[in-house]
Amino acid sequence: MSWLWVALAWGAPTDAVQLCVTVRTRWADAELGDFWTDDSVPKPARGLHLSIEGAEGRRRSVVLSDDTGCAEVPLPTPPVRITAHSRITVQGVDAVASPDHRWREGVAIPVRAKAPPVTEAALTWTVDGVGDQALSLEIPSDQVWQALAATGFLLSRSDFHLNEPAPVPCCALKSGAQRRPDGTCSDRAAVLEPVRPPIVLFTGEAPGVRSCGRSGPHGQLAIQFPDGSSVDSHPAVHVSCRRKRILAHELGHVIAAMRVGARERRSKEAPVDGCVANFDGKRAPYTPGDSDHQRSRGNLSKEYTSEAMKEGWAEFVGIWAWNDPTERDCDYDTTSDAYDFDLDRTMDSVDGVARLSCLGWPDPAAPKRPAPGGWLGEAVDQGFGPGWGFDEKCHASRFEANRSTVFDVGTMFWSLAAHPQRPVPAADLLDAYVGACPDTWAPRDACKSPEELPAARLRDRLRRIRPAAAEAVDRIQRGALRCE
Ligand SMILES: [Zn+2]
Repeated sequence: MSWLWVALAWGAPTDAVQLCVTVRTRWADAELGDFWTDDSVPKPARGLHLSIEGAEGRRRSVVLSDDTGCAEVPLPTPPVRITAHSRITVQGVDAVASPDHRWREGVAIPVRAKAPPVTEAALTWTVDGVGDQALSLEIPSDQVWQALAATGFLLSRSDFHLNEPAPVPCCALKSGAQRRPDGTCSDRAAVLEPVRPPIVLFTGEAPGVRSCGRSGPHGQLAIQFPDGSSVDSHPAVHVSCRRKRILAHELGHVIAAMRVGARERRSKEAPVDGCVANFDGKRAPYTPGDSDHQRSRGNLSKEYTSEAMKEGWAEFVGIWAWNDPTERDCDYDTTSDAYDFDLDRTMDSVDGVARLSCLGWPDPAAPKRPAPGGWLGEAVDQGFGPGWGFDEKCHASRFEANRSTVFDVGTMFWSLAAHPQRPVPAADLLDAYVGACPDTWAPRDACKSPEELPAARLRDRLRRIRPAAAEAVDRIQRGALRCE
């Protein structure tokens, strides 16, 4: 527990009271996983910033505890006005939330706002008498507050080393002799610098944005406010839907990009190679995943490891945030819910199959299983259960090296975080991931050295954390890594 509350000196000293603030939640996917599964239970407002004003008119600031969402507060002379600001500090990491924004991707907007706006909850309580009673305040359900509370919960479980230097001096240079194959740099001046908090959460509607969640690190996604001001100098997450899993997924992207100092390089253009195709369930006629490069990729479509690892890391954070790693169960829902396992252009899975298990394969402790459907068949078995009649064409696929799935990578990280004997802390897994220098890893098969391929770099970093953990990487892709 860390006490961030500032000692208050009021005109007339009063007894301190235990002040606790909770937030009401209303999630579309509340029942998912082990944590926050019951919306009828209010959640602690961890690290929430408050201001307290008494009859004398002086305002004092209070930050609630990281653990409990409470603080010991001597109250001023009644009536007391307490205001909640949509800002938290948890384990030294700051985050703010606002419902106001407009996304403009890829457009440079001059920054006029020095800082993102903070919403104030209209919370006013009149405290008549100060006794030894605890004072409990509740913020009603609203997306901006529940997103903030959920971010506080995630950060209370791991600070992801967000206030620490990068674990490896990753090179910003895209090529040249100064950049080594492992992504590090001989030129100190060309090293990527991590992006510092605050993390900015935007929760309003985003016209023209198809997906529920988006994210961008420093300077890559600009946010314009209704008054014309804008912010592009902070790492930002936009989540407009009430899905706790997607919020954690987007935070996973931003946390990784902040540690690296840049986004991952990736390619979504790996051929499906006769393997399972992912469909966008909203569009008809449904087309196999490799027919329009950018749009029909999903958790089980065959990807270059650059894409599988970028999205797989974020999926892992979505899994980890809401599942208890000490329990032998784990589930999550994928973004995609429609698959054509036999590539006959009809959907083999329909609504309801989006819920996947994240247990087991590729647990390094588990024995290798025979692979009737090839490597991808195992993933489908694992996610949906056996009996999907996996097509033989995938079985014969030549390309397994430097290919994986988002699902495999997400469950690989989970199998390490939830290892029954020697779990790896999530922040250590992130150290390994960002230590692979994903800004410069090879997005496709083209490379000068196989050490530039994502799986080789991740394997090398995991080996330094725990030698056995490195074996897990061999299970998310098969075959010898080589440059094409
Ligand atoms: Zn993502």
